[in-house]
Amino acid sequence: MYHQRKRVLVTGGAGFLGSHLCDRLVAEGHDVLCLDNFFTGTRDNIAHLLGKPNFEVIRHDLVQPIFLEVDEIYNLACPASPIHYQYNPVKTIKTSVMGAIHMLGLAKRVNAKILQASTSEVYGDPTVHPQEEKYWGHVNPIGQRSCYDEGKRCAETLFFDYHRQNRVNIRVVRIFNTYGPRMHPNDGRVVSNFIMQALSNKGITIYGDGSQTRSFCYVDDLIDGLILMMNGPDAFVGPVNMGNPQETSILGLAEMIIRMTGSRSKVVFEELPGDDPARRCPDISLAKEKLGWNPGILLEQGLVKTIDYFKRGIFE
Ligand code: NAD
Ligand code: UDP
Repeated sequence: MYHQRKRVLVTGGAGFLGSHLCDRLVAEGHDVLCLDNFFTGTRDNIAHLLGKPNFEVIRHDLVQPIFLEVDEIYNLACPASPIHYQYNPVKTIKTSVMGAIHMLGLAKRVNAKILQASTSEVYGDPTVHPQEEKYWGHVNPIGQRSCYDEGKRCAETLFFDYHRQNRVNIRVVRIFNTYGPRMHPNDGRVVSNFIMQALSNKGITIYGDGSQTRSFCYVDDLIDGLILMMNGPDAFVGPVNMGNPQETSILGLAEMIIRMTGSRSKVVFEELPGDDPARRCPDISLAKEKLGWNPGILLEQGLVKTIDYFKRGIFE
């Protein structure tokens, strides 16, 4: 085991996905460094890891450089929910772009392997369905989602340029909507919003007419995918889509959550935010073929666990 033990940096490690990733890497016996500025991440997400000898936390803002000795970097630092990434859009794009530059510079200097948490948002409001990796996207460069979308697109560019120019060993994963325990209850994302509203019998806020679609992946499946990609062959750098291709409309999701929680909530329709993508569903053939990755957790199964998590938070 000892020779397989690695020093792994997880930026954004106190966030929703980052904390689950830290759990897995600590359980595998690696020395894990969790770096976070606690903008959207919390100490609660990683409290259970704090006493472990192979887990360490660094409070740091990735907009500033940092020097560390590591073997692998998972670069997840960036607010992911629209209300958080739009709160300070200049900071969001700085986090994606400066963060990528700093982490790629570090990877180059210490010869570390580095994985970028990219996003389905690089496809914007897609005109191709389902989205496959060779599609270049349909992104508004000046809209309210642009700080996130263009920041992530620029980060991908930096990853591929460092790879071509400096032979940095990269991986790029385009993550589609992922949900599960430790989503921030007030971060405005649809799954957490609907569950919180349903559990308190408040109106379920549907933006637009609810016909827009998303494809929701349970967090455990996604973490499997990130680790498989990091450990996969160096020749396969991506970009690779990771998400669950089970597509559902937002109205369908609301009805499902009302039914599963036994809630008295009714749906209420509100204005659709600008540039909200109309349809989103990943083509995951590449991840299946290259990594044998196939998310197995159905939406209803994942929602049971997620509802349970939010219930405990509310009623404890
Ligand atoms: P999250 O907001 O829970 O986590 C992001 C973490 O990054 C937080 O802990 C936050 O405090 C930290 N952070 C933000 N700015 C930082 C900075 N400047 N310096 C240091 N730390 C900073 O979101 P998440 O859902 O866990 O997303 C993690 C990553 O995965 C993000 O990069 C996101 O873009 C990507 N992603 C997530 C999804 C999803 O559905 N969850 C989909 C696509 C992509
Ligand atoms: N949404 C909604 N009600 C909410 C929160 C979100 O109808 O309370 C919609 C939102 O407009 C979008 C979809 O749900 O069409 C997913 O939103 P989320 O913010 O979770 O993710 P993203 O739009 O980034 O995929």
